[in-house]
Amino acid sequence: MSWRDLRCGEPRGDHVGRTLTLAGWTGRRRDHGGLVFVDLRDHTGVTQLVINPERSAASAEIAKEIRNEFVLRATGELVARSPETVNPNMPTGDVELHVDELEIVSRSTPLPFQLDEDNVDEVLRLRNRWLDLRTERMQRNLRTRATVVAAIRRSMEEQDFVDVWTPGLTLGTPEGARDFLVPVRLQPGSFFALAQSPQLFKQALMIGGFDRYYQIATCWRDEDLRADRQFEFRQLDLELAFATRDDVLEVLERVVAASFESIGREPPELPFPRLSYGEAMLRYGSDKPDLRFELEIQDGTEVTRGSEFGVFAGASCVRFLVVPKAFSRGDLANLEEFAKEWGAKGLAYVVHDESGATRSPIAKYLSPAELEAFAGPPGSTTLFVADERPVVERVLGALRLHLGREQGLVDEEREAFHWILDFPLFQLDEDTGRWTFVHHPFTGPLEGHEDLIESDPASALSKHYDLIWNGWELGSGSIRIHRSDVQEQVFRAMGMGDEEAKAKFGWFLDALQMGAPPHGGFALGLDRFVALLAGEPNIREVIAFPKVSSGADPLTGAPARAPAEQLDELGIRAVVPEP
Ligand code: ASP
Repeated sequence: MSWRDLRCGEPRGDHVGRTLTLAGWTGRRRDHGGLVFVDLRDHTGVTQLVINPERSAASAEIAKEIRNEFVLRATGELVARSPETVNPNMPTGDVELHVDELEIVSRSTPLPFQLDEDNVDEVLRLRNRWLDLRTERMQRNLRTRATVVAAIRRSMEEQDFVDVWTPGLTLGTPEGARDFLVPVRLQPGSFFALAQSPQLFKQALMIGGFDRYYQIATCWRDEDLRADRQFEFRQLDLELAFATRDDVLEVLERVVAASFESIGREPPELPFPRLSYGEAMLRYGSDKPDLRFELEIQDGTEVTRGSEFGVFAGASCVRFLVVPKAFSRGDLANLEEFAKEWGAKGLAYVVHDESGATRSPIAKYLSPAELEAFAGPPGSTTLFVADERPVVERVLGALRLHLGREQGLVDEEREAFHWILDFPLFQLDEDTGRWTFVHHPFTGPLEGHEDLIESDPASALSKHYDLIWNGWELGSGSIRIHRSDVQEQVFRAMGMGDEEAKAKFGWFLDALQMGAPPHGGFALGLDRFVALLAGEPNIREVIAFPKVSSGADPLTGAPARAPAEQLDELGIRAVVPEP
């Protein structure tokens, strides 16, 4: 006995006349006064079953009981449909199975939603994920994901990388998120942290002589969930020894091209353009700019020194955007509101009318040199933000993106991949007032910036790079520190005493002292990459069993309280009362 001869989407004209057994789910069932039509479905497609009481009275009896999503097995003759009933929209549309034997293999309770229903509540979908997974969308997304992951693995193997598994249960790894802690029964009161990434393990592999490592690694980070964030996610994690930055970037460019090709899409042009962090912040006000449209930010700080307009003269940074539209007063009020939400104190403007005239409450204070610097073509508006540099960057970056979308400047046909290079090594942690890492503390300083680690941390640049696609950060990497003295210097610059550094990273400092080759790597976030490839707005659509924004899993009900005995065994007491 076999369950099926073909899958539901496979019968064709060539099979006409054959006796076939098909099995699948009931899509639609139509009863035409005794003659019953059933769309039998699996992920490959649909074949129409025809159950005729004159051909099989027993099957017709069974067919009365069929409801949506029942699992059926049907045997019959594959017949060519009469010309007027051919359905040209279906690959199986010119055949149908005339049923001789019908079996209900499995029944379904009434459905919480229909598979072809739009806008089903997401929690309901996730609570009944097994049903949701049967939809065309989820079948396509998870299969796309598998195809892309297979292509990535092939590309990595072709490029001589070795797949090595690293532990999930480890000591805290600083990637900028909170750790998930796992209590240890054998050592009550002690905890593992779930790896936020395999960072130190992959560096240890380099020191261990594996000069090209990769892994499709699961990472755990306790952060607030968003459309593009889950507690646990997967990344293509890789590391190379004796490699330059260009070597690392080239590996990733090949991986991206292979991924596009695997799903029949034209790969983006290689190599990807490169932009320094400083330039990106200046021209686009963002370290992950969307380069599918121009609209560049311009700097007006020099020309406004000594300006008669006090706001410009008094600000340490003045920058502007020339937007190809002569905005109305109402538009400008809305844009000012938007700018204020992003932290601006106001939004100065000069409107250049179609006639060439200018409209602006501040024009009378501006010198000819300023007016010339801020000029735009007829039918445009110059928008200014004057403040501290980080505020100016943030507000104009947000305005640029908002206006790019609102004014239809984004070329949706374009795929804009690029690298952002030379990030700062440190940033100020607002809470502690200390310097902290931008990427992670194992990122190397840029050549010639080693001395700045102690003398001027704010100015020290690093060998950290990000890969951006249409304004989304796909991943990050860096060339690492491979000298223990430099590593210790970085820890000290972050305010970490030698004792603390030893307790947290002592084993790794030891490793750096036993022949560490120069090395560097990258991690590509697979969920986001696949979501973008699949055209999905959120990563939950490309994850089989995701969690919702509260951090809960609607399917299993996790997380849950643990029984008192289990907590006792672990040496843990819950101080949060039962709800
Ligand atoms: N460990 C880093 C991350 O997970 C990636 C890297 O530097 O290779 O973002």
